[in-house]
Amino acid sequence: MSKYLSPRLQSLASYVPGEQPQDMQYIKLNTNESPYPPAPSVIRAMTEGRASRLELYPEPDGSRLIRLLADHYGAGTDNIILGNGSDEILNFCFAAYFAGAPVLFPDITYGFYEVFAKLYGAQQTSVPLTEDLRVDENDYIGKHQHIVIANPNAPTGLALTRAQIERIVASNPDHIVVIDEAYVDFGAQSCVPLVKQYKNLIVTMTFSKSRSLAGARVGFAVADAELIADLNRIKYSTNPYNLSSPDQAAACAVMEESAYYAKNCQTIIQTRNGFCQRLRALGFVCADSFANFVFAKLPGTEGKQLYLSLKERGILVRHFDKDRIRDYLRITVGTPQQMNTLLSVLEQLKEEQL
Ligand code: PMP
Repeated sequence: MSKYLSPRLQSLASYVPGEQPQDMQYIKLNTNESPYPPAPSVIRAMTEGRASRLELYPEPDGSRLIRLLADHYGAGTDNIILGNGSDEILNFCFAAYFAGAPVLFPDITYGFYEVFAKLYGAQQTSVPLTEDLRVDENDYIGKHQHIVIANPNAPTGLALTRAQIERIVASNPDHIVVIDEAYVDFGAQSCVPLVKQYKNLIVTMTFSKSRSLAGARVGFAVADAELIADLNRIKYSTNPYNLSSPDQAAACAVMEESAYYAKNCQTIIQTRNGFCQRLRALGFVCADSFANFVFAKLPGTEGKQLYLSLKERGILVRHFDKDRIRDYLRITVGTPQQMNTLLSVLEQLKEEQL
C-alpha cells in the first residue's frame, strides 16, 4: 500500500476471486463456470461485422442486446441495464443506493457484498443463516433497510421461493431489495415477474453461468424504469462503454440460441442431482442445491484438508475459511465424466482416510 492511498480505503479487504491456474490441467470445479462451451454461432459473432471493428467504441447503450433481453423476459427496454458482468451491476446498486446507508444481507453469502459495503461506507448488518444454512425470509420482513439476497444463495445453493421473496419486497417498500439471480437458471424461481409490481426491486442476472460466457463479462439487471435510470446515472458517470463490441455481439448471439443453453442447464441439473445422491451415499452432508454447484461436507473431515487432497490429485474446488462453513466444500457441477472422476477420487480418499 502506498502512503497516498485514501485513508478510507486502507483497511479495505478486497474480493478474492477463485483460482484461475494457468500452469496445469486441473479438473476445474471452483468458480461455477459452465463446463460447456458457447454455441459455435457465439464465437463467430464475436469476430464478425461491427464486433470486429475494434478501432471504434462500442455502442454505449447496448440497445440490441437490451431489446433481445426485454423480449425474452417480457420487460420493456427501459427496464434493463447491462453491466460488465453482474458484479458491475451490483457495484452500481451499492454506489446508487447503499453508500453510507444501512444494508442487510446474510452472514454467509456472496463475498462481494461485504467488499462493496466497505468500499461505499454502507452500514452492513449480517443476518445469520438458520442452523441448516437457509435464508429465513422472516428475518427480512418489515426491516425498513436496504436488502441484498442471492437467490439461490451462494455458496449454499439453497433458494427461497418467489412468494417468500415477494413478502420481503412488499414489506420494505421504502427501501431497495436487490435479488442476485446469478444461478437462477438451474432450478430456482426468478423474481423478474415481480418487477412490474414492485418499484423497489432490482433483479440482477449474468451470462457467466448458464450462458457459458464468463470470459466475456456480461451481466444485466431488470427493474422499474426509474431504478434503471438511477443505475444508468452511475454507469454514465463511471464507464459509459462498459461492454465491449465483441461481448455485446456474443451475448446477442447467445440470445438466439436459447434451446442450446436450456439443454445445457437441464444436463447440469441432472448431473448435479445424481452427484448429490452419490455424495450422500458416500456419507457427505449435501445441501439441496438449486444452482450449478453443490455445497457439501464429510462429517469428521476438515474442509481445508479435503480441498488440499483434491488439489494434489488435480481437482480444484472452492474452500471458504470462514466460521460455520469451514468444513464445507463448494463444488461446481461439471460434465458427468468430471463428476465421476471426482467421486472416484473421493471414494479413494475416504478409504485411505485422507
Ligand atoms: N453473484 C453471485 C452470487 C456470484 O456467485 C457471482 C460470480 N462470482 C456473481 C454475482 C458475479 O458474476 P459475474 O460478474 O460473472 O456476472
